[in-house]
Amino acid sequence: MTTALQSKAALQLVTGAAVDAVVSALGRLSGSPEQQRAALLDIAPSVIGHYSDGSSALAADFYDDERERAAPPKLYIAEPVVLDRTEKIRRAVAWASDPLFVGEPEKTAGRLAEVVNLETARPYRDTILTNRRRDPSAAGWRRVTNGGCKLCRMLADRGAVYIDTTARFAAHASCKCTAQPVFSSDDYGDEANVMQYMASKARRSPQQQATLREYLNANY
Ligand SMILES: [Zn+2]
Repeated sequence: MTTALQSKAALQLVTGAAVDAVVSALGRLSGSPEQQRAALLDIAPSVIGHYSDGSSALAADFYDDERERAAPPKLYIAEPVVLDRTEKIRRAVAWASDPLFVGEPEKTAGRLAEVVNLETARPYRDTILTNRRRDPSAAGWRRVTNGGCKLCRMLADRGAVYIDTTARFAAHASCKCTAQPVFSSDDYGDEANVMQYMASKARRSPQQQATLREYLNANY
């Protein structure tokens, strides 16, 4: 049985290996910026695809472990989920390549690291959240962080459980947080509060944004 933090550490190994693979490939590239960008548009998506299989499988295993621990009455087996992000990944890699055209390869390396980290960690969270929606015995999910930024700490605070199925997993470029499923047979504690749900939204009004910033600064 793997704990949430062990599974999170394993995910970090997967995303770290993916970042290393892409950044070291960049270091070996030569030719014009156009040629290097074309090569990155080839290499980065295929590395992301490879490691996404790993991160989604890790999440499905963790889901099944957690489910076994909670022992809900109905049978369900988690499946790895890798959503099609081909276009988004291509655009992100093209953005990461921009600094090559002004002779700043280190900046490209930094951007690639962000993109690859985010995109290889995403299937882990998508796997937990998608299976949670499909599984009749699931009650929600909680965010697993250790340290992290103010926003991540706030989103994970009190071990809050996100029960609303429309709640997104809010992640930033260097986010190392994961998700853990909780089941109706668990004594899972508190549901996420209004601020936690609000902070998980993709879009916020300027007013909500200001409220959130104030709340984070006052409490975290
Ligand atoms: Zn985070």
